[in-house]
Amino acid sequence: MEQVMQDGPWLIRNNPLFLKQWSTNTELKKEELKKIPVWVKMHDVPLAAYTEDGLSLIASKVGTPKILDNETTKMSLDSWGRSGYARAIVELDADKELEDSVTVAIPNVEEGGYLKSNIRVEYEWKPPHCKTCNVFGHGTDECPTKVKEPADKRDHVKESVDDQGF
Ligand SMILES: [Zn+2]
Repeated sequence: MEQVMQDGPWLIRNNPLFLKQWSTNTELKKEELKKIPVWVKMHDVPLAAYTEDGLSLIASKVGTPKILDNETTKMSLDSWGRSGYARAIVELDADKELEDSVTVAIPNVEEGGYLKSNIRVEYEWKPPHCKTCNVFGHGTDECPTKVKEPADKRDHVKESVDDQGF
């Protein structure tokens, strides 16, 4: 007797882990300033990447994509074959630098391999970002910790000095 090895599709709950890596003693208020959702425009998106997955991937390079703007994603069907930009709400992470452009590898269907594509990222609002505290809400220059502790440690190389050649 031939036994069919088909017990039906087993649904394995492969829940992707989106757990934050923050330490458990992070203050709640600080946590809120760690992430800020902003509208982000993605310019020069190649048509091959102009899908929900592709745009999410690009947006994930600058933060955590939350919402893709349907209006702009539909523009990919434009007869011009390209769109001005795609728009998405991306949750910015204060621990990351704000990138003005991201590079993605687009599969090259005709010749194989990948094409590197540079996508310009425009933030409709750039929240003030402190590199000292790694939070949003105030800039590095107006950081409260900066006032308390005078910068007597001169371990920063003054690169700007070299640029004053004219
Ligand atoms: Zn600060």
